[in-house]
Amino acid sequence: MKNGVNNYQHKAYVVCVILVTVAFVGCGNDQKGHDYDDMNKQDTTIEESIVRTGEIDLQMLDMNKDGKVYQDPMDWNVISDEAGKCPLCKMELKEVTLEVAKENLINNDFTVKDN
Ligand SMILES: [Zn+2]
Repeated sequence: MKNGVNNYQHKAYVVCVILVTVAFVGCGNDQKGHDYDDMNKQDTTIEESIVRTGEIDLQMLDMNKDGKVYQDPMDWNVISDEAGKCPLCKMELKEVTLEVAKENLINNDFTVKDN
């Protein structure tokens, strides 16, 4: 009986060591994959971050203060200070003045912060 328990404990210990080794080696091999995933996630975040929600602050979106932003003519709340494509419909963003962007938003029932 006592012998049996010891045997069980020994087996459990061996399994533990194997699991830890596998986890460690697996982690090392995974390193590149993880970095790649993180980069992908970051890209997605940047793309999606130009989809504006709630009260839209155009003054804040015009980061280089040239009085213009890039706005999607389909999804008016997709606004960026840099040329690019809409992450939703893949259309090229159109450069518009802050006034035009604001009008477009208001005409389409979006809320714009009054600066
Ligand atoms: Zn769009």
